[in-house]
Amino acid sequence: MQQREEYLSWEMTRLLQELEQGTQELAQRTQEQSGFAWGALLFAALRQWQFWAVAGVLLLLFRLCCWLRKRSQEVDSSSDEESSSKEDDSDSDNDLGRLFAEHIQWPVQNLARDCQVVKDLIDNFILVFQENLSNSFFPVLEPAIGVGSAFEGWSPHEEDIIYRLLVPLKPPRGHAFHLELGNRGETPAWYSYVRVELVCTCMREQLAGEMLCFLHHPVEELRRDQGPSLLRTLCTGSYLDVQKTARWFYQLVQEAWVVLPQSSTWRLTMSPSSRSCKFRVTEGNNKSHIIEMMFGVQQGNSDIFVSSQDTEALFTPSTTWPESYAVAEAKFFRHMARQVPHDSIHLRCLQAYARILVGTGFSTYTLKTVVMHLLNTIPLSGWRRRHFVLRMDDTMRYLRRCLEERRLDHFFLGNESVPEEIILPPDFQMAEPLNLFQHLVQDPAAHAEAMREHMYLRQRFMRLLLYGH
Ligand SMILES: [Zn+2]
Repeated sequence: MQQREEYLSWEMTRLLQELEQGTQELAQRTQEQSGFAWGALLFAALRQWQFWAVAGVLLLLFRLCCWLRKRSQEVDSSSDEESSSKEDDSDSDNDLGRLFAEHIQWPVQNLARDCQVVKDLIDNFILVFQENLSNSFFPVLEPAIGVGSAFEGWSPHEEDIIYRLLVPLKPPRGHAFHLELGNRGETPAWYSYVRVELVCTCMREQLAGEMLCFLHHPVEELRRDQGPSLLRTLCTGSYLDVQKTARWFYQLVQEAWVVLPQSSTWRLTMSPSSRSCKFRVTEGNNKSHIIEMMFGVQQGNSDIFVSSQDTEALFTPSTTWPESYAVAEAKFFRHMARQVPHDSIHLRCLQAYARILVGTGFSTYTLKTVVMHLLNTIPLSGWRRRHFVLRMDDTMRYLRRCLEERRLDHFFLGNESVPEEIILPPDFQMAEPLNLFQHLVQDPAAHAEAMREHMYLRQRFMRLLLYGH
């Protein structure tokens, strides 16, 4: 409490100094550049303007101080839940939260509309692929699932938003997929593989008479009358190969584009990518979207996949399919969107954090994990617009505690309070929680740096509140 107050007054002094310095510099420059009375006149006007700006900033800071002091007293004197219900009741201080939320310059975007445009386009693509592939032994493509910040509704960008979609792959006729999952241990299961196995179709063939059994028909006959098996197209050894799959998909997109209705007025530009399929489409009105399609194989009937997405490892072999939580995360955000109040600011919090942590060692995934934990524990009525500063502050404190304890639990692994709507593989609840801050345990220097950066994050947050950007 005391620390916070000290910090705030320190911050206030510093900002004041900064403004004063700015005024002086401006005065100097004005004098240097023109000897006319004009300069003096302009300076006087600016000085007045700056004076009012300083006064406004000070007033805001003063109110923020009082407010945070009052809040800390409340937190001290009652349990968390009680304090959140109190927050709901006391309206007088809440205008400030709303004021700040509205004061910030948010990116101008129409994510809901643009996501729908992208989703419709990709649905069209998939329909064409399914048609083109119906007699082949390439993987069966299922409707794509929108994932990542754009589809979750908090992309921090205004332009060049990347729309990520995951296309689930199912084994074609006569084939089976077996997932070989890597150790979860200290990192997510990065080194997972998709083993492809041929399955006898002799019985099915007699019924339908449409395909030869890859296992029991003579090679000659297979070669003459039937396309190659998946093992001979997209696999390396008996493992599905990410890069071969990406190249295959790249071709599919190019071939399918010409038959899509959009191709008459839109433009398609492919981008190179070894583990996904990336391209840009430009609508008739010159609005463009960057789309990245990843591929995944579902674990059982769960929302957890192994996917083609890249890992943080320096080198990812082309047969590795790291475990991906992207679909479960997107589902969590969709689930939350249905539960939270209409003016919920949870996505704004994420957007604000994505902005202020640029240049620090904190990843947006770290902050997203923190916000997911908080969304799951703080009563949803406490996420209204007027609670914006409170929830930003909670996020900051939660992160601080995690740093002190050198422990941030992965949201899905070993977490018993994941909403039921999200289907996890049976071993997830039994699993040991995965510590995303494990590297801080082993590296004291990294830990010290992270603590320093947390202070910096606080400053950035204050600046965001004061300046709005
Ligand atoms: Zn057979």
